[in-house]
Amino acid sequence: MGGRCIMCGRLVEVEEFNPDSYDDYEDEDLQPKKSSILICQLCQAKLRHEADEAQKIPKPM
Ligand SMILES: [Zn+2]
Repeated sequence: MGGRCIMCGRLVEVEEFNPDSYDDYEDEDLQPKKSSILICQLCQAKLRHEADEAQKIPKPM
């Protein structure tokens, strides 16, 4: 059983979609709830990267 990544449409194997890994990023508000929403590892990495970039944006003077 599997699903498609909501970001890019890649097929995602549920086995490799490990909700337990979310414990590593408990401060990520953009992570969807642990429901049937699937995001492939590539897009997860991308989201994390974008989140990091967003935090790097300096405050406007
Ligand atoms: Zn994806």
